[in-house]
Amino acid sequence: MTYHALDNNTVLDYVRSQPELKALFSDLSNLSAREVGDGNLNMVFIVSNPRAPTESLVIKQALPYLRVLGESYPLTRERMRFEAQALLLYNELTPGLAPQVYVYDEKMSLVAMEHLKNHEVMRKSLVARKQLPLFADHISTFLAHILFKTSDLYRTGHEKKALQASYINPSLCKIQEDFVFTNPYMESPENNWNTEINAEVQAVRRNVPLKLAILELKEKYMTQGQALIHSDLHTGSIMVNEQDTRVIDPEFSFFGPMGYDIGALLSNLVLNFGAHFAHTRDAAARAAYQNYLIETIRDIWLLFAAKFEQLWLENSTGELVPNAYWHFPEGETAFAVYRQHYIRQLLQDTAGLGACESLRRMMGVVSVWDISSIGDNQLRAIAERFVIRVSTRWIVERSSFSSADDLVGIIREEAERAERSVNGDP
Ligand code: ADP
Ligand code: MG
Repeated sequence: MTYHALDNNTVLDYVRSQPELKALFSDLSNLSAREVGDGNLNMVFIVSNPRAPTESLVIKQALPYLRVLGESYPLTRERMRFEAQALLLYNELTPGLAPQVYVYDEKMSLVAMEHLKNHEVMRKSLVARKQLPLFADHISTFLAHILFKTSDLYRTGHEKKALQASYINPSLCKIQEDFVFTNPYMESPENNWNTEINAEVQAVRRNVPLKLAILELKEKYMTQGQALIHSDLHTGSIMVNEQDTRVIDPEFSFFGPMGYDIGALLSNLVLNFGAHFAHTRDAAARAAYQNYLIETIRDIWLLFAAKFEQLWLENSTGELVPNAYWHFPEGETAFAVYRQHYIRQLLQDTAGLGACESLRRMMGVVSVWDISSIGDNQLRAIAERFVIRVSTRWIVERSSFSSADDLVGIIREEAERAERSVNGDP
């Protein structure tokens, strides 16, 4: 089939033409489809059989341009290949933590996948102050397994580079290079921000230590092919309920620095933390939920670090460090020191790379719903100043970080200041 962009009708013809998809429905005469893509890039259709509520699937198709910017911003449809490959790898390495893939159709640039009908986008749950008791455990498993098992700590050099070669993704990398690491911090026509924070935006643009640090992080993003990263792992790329967690939307996948994924997740929890200064006017409810977010940030890091190190101890098969390298009297201690240094560097990368993702949301082309759904611009500015301060400090101070307490300590300090603003103190 040659490429054509599907609509609510033609998507049904497509499903009926595919044996693997047809087989999911007991009756093909009555299928219905609706387009639900709230994303910025692609079309997402839910196809269902109204007579059998359990029968449904999702079709995600790439358009030859970036949806949010319109036809004037062409973007290669190959992005759906990266998404399909990554989802399939997630299914293999961390079963149950991503939607199942039914069909990948390269010509049509689409993926047919499991419909997550009992889940919601995590950002929505967080704005509604829902607690997700298993989330930190699930996502730390996802991060530890995917990052470790695609790295040189686990694979041979040949294996890793062969895998890496199938994830050369320059078009989507460029989106992040421009819109996460560059344009928001200079004049660029697509930038967009709350005029209440004009002064803060201008201050970021002339903050020399910050701008130099962002370049170090950008270079790391561009050059350190450490592991297969999702590369857009914010809370809009995770679907959740109380029992279950699924990672979606890995079209930006490539081999990059591990800390970008862990960091994007944690910094989006910081964004949500900030948003509650506006969304949650009741001080006790706000404090309770913000404490929950802090515990979640801490748990994700601690669980990730423990699982990553455990995988390393049990599967030290990569060619970066052969086991024989440590075969000498002090070798075991030296290996422990190396692991500790490696994980500390990951923490610092997590802080710095992640904070670029939250900082850009305050002044770049795309905001996040946690913040953009705040109607009152003065309250919104309290949230935004908090995020700018925490993000700036995570970037500039990251080299001194050695534990999750360093991440959390800065959140707590800046939250005290934001609380004073909420209460009308200067
Ligand atoms: P984009 O790449 O355009 O950002 P996403 O993959 O983020 O697209 O999907 C957009 C929206 O579609 C998600 O926010 C979610 O609401 C919905 N969605 C995507 N995949 C699924 C799925 N497998 N099951 C249910 N809903 C989904
Ligand atoms: Mg996407």
